[in-house]
Amino acid sequence: MYTLPALPYAKNSLEPFIDAETMEIHHDRHHAAYIKNLNDALATIEGYKTPSIETLLQSLDSLPESIRTKVRNNAGGHYNHSLFWTIMSPVTGQAAEGVLKDAILKTFGDIKTLQQKIIDAGLSRFGSGWVWLVVENNELKVMDTPNQDSPIMDRSLSRQITPIFCIDVWEHAYYLKYQNKRAEYLSAFWNVVNWREVEKLYENAMT
Ligand code: MN
Repeated sequence: MYTLPALPYAKNSLEPFIDAETMEIHHDRHHAAYIKNLNDALATIEGYKTPSIETLLQSLDSLPESIRTKVRNNAGGHYNHSLFWTIMSPVTGQAAEGVLKDAILKTFGDIKTLQQKIIDAGLSRFGSGWVWLVVENNELKVMDTPNQDSPIMDRSLSRQITPIFCIDVWEHAYYLKYQNKRAEYLSAFWNVVNWREVEKLYENAMT
């Protein structure tokens, strides 16, 4: 059984950038529902032992076809949101530092360019999905995915992809405060980034 991770900060602590009601609905209802649906789907397999969420997402093909799509969507939802909560922080005004900063400057030229690339990817993602900063084969890369798909689902060729940052661009992530203005949400998001956590994930992803 997968379980809902507690938020590492109070629901109102990301205000005014992300409001408490959005956090409450997003974490306590949406994320909780992905976990319930995931557990319900896997409970239909007799004697199934749940692997790590990463392993599950990388072995969807081994599941019965009747539950594969449900598991894909809800396991993706669980993995993605679990990362999402940790890369936000009430400690505003953080900036990338250390080896991550060096890698961002080397890959994108400057932080602003990286931020704009992420914003553009989030704006061009039609409908629901996610935008990501990942490490792929030791290189930083911006990606986006539809629905609750996660970059770690892609096991093609020699791709070794580790997400280190993500922004949820489903309307449920911003609609109460920003309505249809996804661009405003994406611009405001930089105020709540937990760069210390992103740096940690970057260092762990580098081999
Ligand atoms: Mn969400």
